Amino acid sequence: MDKIELQSLVRKKSERVTFMPNSGKTTSDAWKNFVLIAIDGERGDYVKCINCDGVLRWKSRDGTHGLKTHLKYCSKPSTTRTMFDLPGITKAVSVPASVKSSVADSVVTMCAKDIRSFNIVDGDGFKEFVDKVLSVGAKYSGISATDILPSVTTVSRHLAEVVTAMFVRRIQQAESKPRPSRRIFVKTPPL
Ligand SMILES: [Zn+2]
Repeated sequence: MDKIELQSLVRKKSERVTFMPNSGKTTSDAWKNFVLIAIDGERGDYVKCINCDGVLRWKSRDGTHGLKTHLKYCSKPSTTRTMFDLPGITKAVSVPASVKSSVADSVVTMCAKDIRSFNIVDGDGFKEFVDKVLSVGAKYSGISATDILPSVTTVSRHLAEVVTAMFVRRIQQAESKPRPSRRIFVKTPPL
């Protein structure tokens, strides 16, 4: 497939095209802005810039010079936005319906096994947790749940620290509001 055809599939968010972070031995910061492209599940010689959705020809022997050059002239340059800052890498990647369906199956299985309510998927905290896991998974491929999930004891040890940080954040947010005479209410986060 040529670059123009691939670019149009990317723009159309075609399900034939999937993306994955370059989790090789690379350490270059340039890779925070690019994902590898697979067509019909097969890796081609292309990468996508996550800032402008532009498709670039790239082979592993090319190094990152071409990528860095693209970033200089990228139509949507951003110094702050990286793949891992996105609210879930899913925003930059179109997920095939079959994958979404298998995730839904997993949620059902989890709720059944652990006796949890289905509306766990609506929780903002749960979504943030899943985003966190996705970004860790993108950075360290091949790890399993037990490699990153803390024990109950560890979670309870982190409780005080996290709650204090939430309090501080809420107070700072309240104080940064423009009305100086505003009274500050801080809601205690549920423990
Ligand atoms: Zn770009």
